[in-house]
Order: sequence, then structure tokens, then C-alpha cells
Amino acid sequence: MPGLGEAGQPKKKLSLTLLLIGLVTLVVLLTSTILLTASYQSKKKSLIETTLNLNLSNAERMSKTVDSLFRSMRSSMVYSADKLSQINEVQPEQVDDYLELMRKSSTYFNSILLVGADGVIRNASPATLGMAGKSIKSPWAVEALRLRLPYLSEPFTTASTGRMIVFMSEPMYDRDKHYLGQLGGTIYLQDSNILSMIFGNDNEIDSSGSYYYIVSADGHLLFHPDKERLNEDISKSEIVQELMKGHSGQREAVNVRGIPMLAGYSSVPANGWGVAVVSPVSKIQDELWGHIRKTLAYTLIPFVIMLLLALVIAHQLAKPFVMLADLMNKVGKEKTELPVLKPHWNREADLLTKAVAIAWSDIQKQTDQLTQEAMTDLLTGLANRRSLDITMNQWIAAQFSFSVIVLDVDKFKFVNDTYGHLAGDEVLKQVAGILKASIRPGDVCCRYGGEEFVVLLPRTKAADAYIVAERIRKTLEASEVPLAMKVTSSQGIAHYPSHGDSLEKLLEQADRAMYSAKGQGRNRTIIADE
Ligand code: GH3
Ligand code: MG
Ligand code: MG
Repeated sequence: MPGLGEAGQPKKKLSLTLLLIGLVTLVVLLTSTILLTASYQSKKKSLIETTLNLNLSNAERMSKTVDSLFRSMRSSMVYSADKLSQINEVQPEQVDDYLELMRKSSTYFNSILLVGADGVIRNASPATLGMAGKSIKSPWAVEALRLRLPYLSEPFTTASTGRMIVFMSEPMYDRDKHYLGQLGGTIYLQDSNILSMIFGNDNEIDSSGSYYYIVSADGHLLFHPDKERLNEDISKSEIVQELMKGHSGQREAVNVRGIPMLAGYSSVPANGWGVAVVSPVSKIQDELWGHIRKTLAYTLIPFVIMLLLALVIAHQLAKPFVMLADLMNKVGKEKTELPVLKPHWNREADLLTKAVAIAWSDIQKQTDQLTQEAMTDLLTGLANRRSLDITMNQWIAAQFSFSVIVLDVDKFKFVNDTYGHLAGDEVLKQVAGILKASIRPGDVCCRYGGEEFVVLLPRTKAADAYIVAERIRKTLEASEVPLAMKVTSSQGIAHYPSHGDSLEKLLEQADRAMYSAKGQGRNRTIIADE
């Protein structure tokens, strides 16, 4: 931006455009940050709540399923134990068939055994296991046999087959309440079993990375997407601790591997097992970032539009100020016309435009008046010496031929001395009036100083100028003045370029001729010597 009288100030000023754009950017950034933070927080809260609720409801549903499953398994065992003690008594050869039927009809168990009170396996299904006749060795089975109660083991690996199993057993008594042994069913944890049949092998609830697991009453994994981890003791986990206490609920907790999880958990009343559905918190974080990215993408377009809009508005806003500053810079330096100042939509800019327009025309008027005054002789209203110099110099510069008449009132001192200074002034005005009346348009006449006048006659030879001068002289001589004497004048004539090629030379020549006229008795006209 030029000028405004601050030239020489090295400090760069802030432009309106930059200011507005900066302001818009700041506002947009601040608003976006606040909105994004608020949206991030509320989205996070709602995602966590939703996930926890969903996990809890899934865990509850699964634990109910396990609960009722376990109850049916138990009642089927109670019934079968009773039935088998009867069959054993009457048709022992039918026991194997019954076990086979029991295993295949319900699919509750991967294998079923009938163990005698002495710990020797009497019958087994499937028979291919080749268990019949062998003694049971696992401490859990021995314990079950000893207790003579309905029993559910913790998971363990059998010594004979190396399988990871859980087993469930029911004591068998004969009619005389004589203890016969245990009817036991096993679930092979690593193979397809009743749990995987119900909950599926694909242990992923959805793409959010959620999964579920089932723990035994002492915190060992019975069911987990990672088969390698089956039977792992995770009783240290906060969630499993809750499950082992028989609690259900939802919470954010760090799992045994140190990963923060959102868990819904529910214990199974029938057997003390627990079901947990968990989602890694990091997955929620991923989803949140996705949400933020999407929000940012949506904000970007309006932001760019706002910036462009601010740019246009700022430019429009700054335009009148720059234009007015330029305009005011020209005031007094060059003669310029006031451009058409359109009303501006911005109130301040409009007020300033109007004020400048008024100031401009005032200044212009004053300047015109001052110029006029500077160029005019106050007494006679003729052009003054300054104005004459300008015109003559212009004509000389343009090599424009002209004649100059220098006119001096004769014996003017006498007029002043005799009739007073005011009368003298009146005479001067009369001379001026005669001069004005005698010239043609395009001629210039001026009061050169005192009682000396100069007339410029463009495209006029000295001889023609002589005619004009003589006409003036005669008119003055003949004119009525309120004095008891005649007023006459002596005149000298010079021609450009014949008598000189500069203003000084011309006036000197004309002056000299005028003084010759004085010398020759006044009231006459003389042309300068060639
Ligand atoms: P000459 O015929 O030789 O020109 O005689 P003159 O008296 O006209 O010559 P001089 O130059 O001696 O006198 C000029 C006088 O004009 C002197 C001055 O008092 C008078 N004068 C100059 N300017 C003005 C003016 O503005 N008003 C009046 N009233 N008198 C003026
Ligand atoms: Mg004089
Ligand atoms: Mg005189």
C-alpha cells in the first residue's frame, strides 16, 4: 500500500485481507478444536458404554445358555446313572449300548465312562478308546470316586491320552443304596465339543476385535479363541477374580497380558464357571480416530469456502480504503478529476468515501480559487505578471509566434500626486477596461506592475500589433476620465521570434521601445528595432 505519509517507516503494516483471513482461520481452528474435542469425548464415552453394554448382554446370554446346558447335562446324568444301575443289575451286556446311545443322542460329552467303586473302568463309549478294564489314575477322577457325590472337575490333561479335558460325574447306587461307582462324561476342550457346537468355532463376535472366553470355577480357561491358551490359569485377571466370586457386570480392565479391555462378564450359577466377552480398548481408539478423520474431512470443504469468502470480503473491504488513500495522496500534487465514487456496502467505508468526496471537492474549489487569485491582479482583475510569464514561456516553448505590447501610463506619478492614490487606482481600472475591450479572444492582457501593462497577441506580426496598440492608445486618449486632464500611454512593441527568442529579451526589447516612445514625447507607439 503506498504512502499515507508513512513512507520511511520500515515496519510492515498488517493488511485488512491478512487480518480477516487470520481471524477467520483462528475462529475456524478454535471452533473445530472445541467441536472435535467435544465430539471425541462424547463419541468415546458412548462407544465405551455401547461396547460395555453389548459385551455384558452377550456375556449374560451366554452364561444363561451354559447354565441351562449344564443343568440339562446334570439331569441327564442323574437319570442315566439311575437307569444304568438298573440295567447293570439285569442286563449288564446292555450297558455299553446304553452308554453309546447316551453319548450319541445328546452330544453333551465327547466320551462317557462307567467307573466301578474300585477305580476300574467297567465300560466306555466310544469303545475305540480301549479304556475298559483300566484303572483310572487322574487325581480328579480318584477324588470324584472318593467323594461319592455329583462332581465337576477342573480342566486337566490326562496321563493316558494327553487330552485336555473336563469331566463331570454322577455317583451310582444300587437298590440297596450300595455305592457302585461313578458315571462320568468328559468334554475334550481342544476338540469339537458341546461348547464349540453351541458358541461356534469362530470365536469372534464382530470386526471390532471382540471375543469371549469361558473360565472354570478356579480361573482356568475352558474356552478361548486361542486354543493354545486352554487350561491357562488366568485367575489373576480382575475380571476372572470377579467371576470367581460369582459376580456379573461390566468394566474396563487390564487383562493378564497387560492389554486394556472393555469387558462384560457373567458367572454361571449352576457350576461356578464364568463367561466374559471382551473388546480391546485400542479398537475403540481406532474407531475414534476414524471418526475424527471423517469429521475433519467434512470440515475441510466449508473451511476452504469460508477462507475464500473471507478473502473476497476482505479484498472488497480494503479496496475503497486503498483507493481513497491513493486519491488523497494526489490532492494538491496533480490536477486530477474526482473519480465517480460509488456507494459502498460497508457502512464505515461508505461514510469515509462520502467524507472524502466532500473534502476533495472543497479542497479542489479552494485550490482553484487560490490558483485563480495567484494568477490575477487584485485591482484590475487582469492576469498578473506570474500568469503572463507562464503563458509567454509556453508560447516560446511551442515556438508559437506572437507580438508583445508593453504599455506604460504617462505621467502617472502626477495623477497620483495631484488627484490622490485612489483616483490613480480608478485610472488603472479604466485602462484595464479599455485593454479588455480592445483585444480578441485568444489575446492575453495583464498588469505587469504599477501602471505598466502587457498585451500578448498570438499569430500577430509587429506591424499588426502596432495597429492594435494604436487603437488602444487612441481609445485611452479619447476616453473620459473624472480628472481635469487626459490620460495617455506610451507603448513599445516586440515580436517573437523576430526581436528575441526568450521572454527576457522580448520584454527588454519592448520596454526599450516603450522608453523610446517616452523619450519622443510620450502618447505614441514604437516597434523595437529589428
Ligand atoms: P512617465 O510618463 O515617465 O512614465 O511618468 P510616470 O509618473 O508615469 O512614471 P513613474 O514610474 O515615475 O511613476 C509611476 C507611478 O505610478 C509611481 C507610483 O506612485 C504609481 N503607482 C504604481 N503603482 C500604483 C498603483 O497601484 N496605484 C496607484 N494609484 N499608483 C501607482
Ligand atoms: Mg512606469
Ligand atoms: Mg508611467
